[in-house]
Amino acid sequence: MLQSRALLEWHLKKTEWEEIQGKLKNFREQAEQLQEKLLALKNKIESLGEPDQQDIDGKIAYALASQELWMAEKEWERFQDQRFNDEMMYREQEEICRQELDELESTISRETFQTYEEVSEFCDNPVVEVKRRSCMGCFLPLSMITMNAWRKGKKLVRCEVCGRILV
Ligand SMILES: [Zn+2]
Repeated sequence: MLQSRALLEWHLKKTEWEEIQGKLKNFREQAEQLQEKLLALKNKIESLGEPDQQDIDGKIAYALASQELWMAEKEWERFQDQRFNDEMMYREQEEICRQELDELESTISRETFQTYEEVSEFCDNPVVEVKRRSCMGCFLPLSMITMNAWRKGKKLVRCEVCGRILV
């Protein structure tokens, strides 16, 4: 595989991997938020204390807080069920993705990665395809010299306008 092609595939795979990581992180954050909510409600109920028979307002406040807690507990249970199913799936996806990333990584030279790092500093999509003799990063036509070098495919060629790596 050409270095540029391998690099593009690696870049896309890395983006996929980051998305999975993001989803797993979301689960952790959601769990923390729900736990905080539960704790806050439990504390609230504790501070309210069991109201007296005559304390109507107190009884209403206590009943409302208890209901809120009940709902939060249901929400937590639902979340746990969903997390149990989805997290396992994401972990499997993550592992497959990681293996594919490693395989691609082993075909890419240090020099190619250096160029990638360089271009990554100024744009999110450092590797782009060439279509209709144009760079698909900045959408401007490529010069003859760049087109010829790109066709040869011997080394990495960058768009002379935006600097992205051309595939
Ligand atoms: Zn360009």
